[in-house]
Amino acid sequence: MEVAYQKCINPVCGATFGIEEILPACPKCGELLDVTYDWDKVELPAKAADLGAFTKPSGGFCRVSGVWRFGQMMPFASEGKRATIGEGHTQLRPAPRVADYVGLKNLHLQYEGLNPSGSFKDNGMAGAFTHAKMVGAKVVACASTGNTSASMAAFAANTGMAGIIFIGDGKVAYGKLSQALDYGAMTLLIKGDFDDAMARVQEVCKSEGIYLVNSVNPFRLEGQKTIMYRVLEGFDWNIPDWIVVPGGNLGNSSAFGKAFYELYDLGLIAKMPRIAVINSEGAPTLNNLVRSGLKWNGGTVDDAMIGAYYRGLDERNERANTIASAIEINRPVNLKKCLRAIEKTEGVVRAVSDQQIIDAKAWIAREGLGCEPASAASVAGTKALVEEGIIDRDATVACILTGHQLKDPHATVAYHSYSEEDLKADYGQYGISTSEYANKPVPVANDLGQIIDAIRAKAAKN
Ligand SMILES: *Cc1c(COP(=O)(O)O)cnc(C)c1O
Ligand SMILES: [Zn+2]
Repeated sequence: MEVAYQKCINPVCGATFGIEEILPACPKCGELLDVTYDWDKVELPAKAADLGAFTKPSGGFCRVSGVWRFGQMMPFASEGKRATIGEGHTQLRPAPRVADYVGLKNLHLQYEGLNPSGSFKDNGMAGAFTHAKMVGAKVVACASTGNTSASMAAFAANTGMAGIIFIGDGKVAYGKLSQALDYGAMTLLIKGDFDDAMARVQEVCKSEGIYLVNSVNPFRLEGQKTIMYRVLEGFDWNIPDWIVVPGGNLGNSSAFGKAFYELYDLGLIAKMPRIAVINSEGAPTLNNLVRSGLKWNGGTVDDAMIGAYYRGLDERNERANTIASAIEINRPVNLKKCLRAIEKTEGVVRAVSDQQIIDAKAWIAREGLGCEPASAASVAGTKALVEEGIIDRDATVACILTGHQLKDPHATVAYHSYSEEDLKADYGQYGISTSEYANKPVPVANDLGQIIDAIRAKAAKN
């Protein structure tokens, strides 16, 4: 057996395939695949703290990738093929104001907005494009709510591949669309939403032999494991109690779970953090199904329950609808892997309202960390879980800020500056009202006296 292979997640099937194969799903049973390793053949350090060394003797680019410095934990990648755009130089920051807001003593924010394309997706694309190079792919494609396409387009430009993007028309935030266009990817605006675009891209990739980089691609999730290595590194490899992450297509939560139970099974960490996955109430599939009792159950998942849920969505013509556009997904492709991560880490799931999300976003920004709405679901979800007593007030918690503030500036400007009437007109469908946390701009005449009066009036209020 090779060091790395692909393996079906369905334990009844358990089929394995070489890493040279391009498989969007198990050809035998249709379930998702994992990249799996024969760890006996991998050289690993004796303790986790020795993972992630910055100095690698081989090729210079390894030194600038926050993904590939953890290459030991992703031993599918041949050294010379490692794709990178300098991703993963992100940071874990203590956030005392946000901690107060959610009722915790110790809260940290992992700022993945610092990636070159502005979201955590770059971690995953480093993995997927490495595999794409290894199998000689020339054309890559993805469906996207925006960030996957921005990241894919940047990597495609960097590696000289052609990129094709499937986006539901009318929904994408301009920051993200601007990146896709500027990086030169072919951008198809499909009449429909993300779930429609996801269905079509899978069909097109199959028919045209195009390499798919959505998170059904198990090599992408390998790259996303490194977000958790960096979080643990940020805590000096002391294990936090909770990791809280927004849930859309559920690739991140799945990758985080895999990162933890691999380290745990290898004896490199003594316990695993618990994972909390946060949906928006406007796209609550995971939350609804888990609340109704859906479980990984050792791999025997109740498919009938999932099928009935999706049929219900179709019958009611129910579409995902949230200001957190990056998680506006009703048919998460990694549902089962996420259920597995939840089971193995004793995780939990919640849904929060768009008002809770957008208010949390304003608090995060007061730490000097700007994120897009979806990212703030992690903090809003933490607040809800603390209030319910599920997260202990003494717990050590890291929330993942998945994407940068400038991805969706319209939402931020509207929140801070719009009148109730204008907010209703643009964002009424998400049930958002003006907030006491808004930082309103101050209109003032071009007149020294009036400007000084405005500044003094503000100072007197504080
Ligand atoms: C893609 C994305 C998510 C959702 O992550 P999944 O892995 O699909 O659950 C959340 N936030 C941002 C900013 C994203 O770009
Ligand atoms: Zn299978």
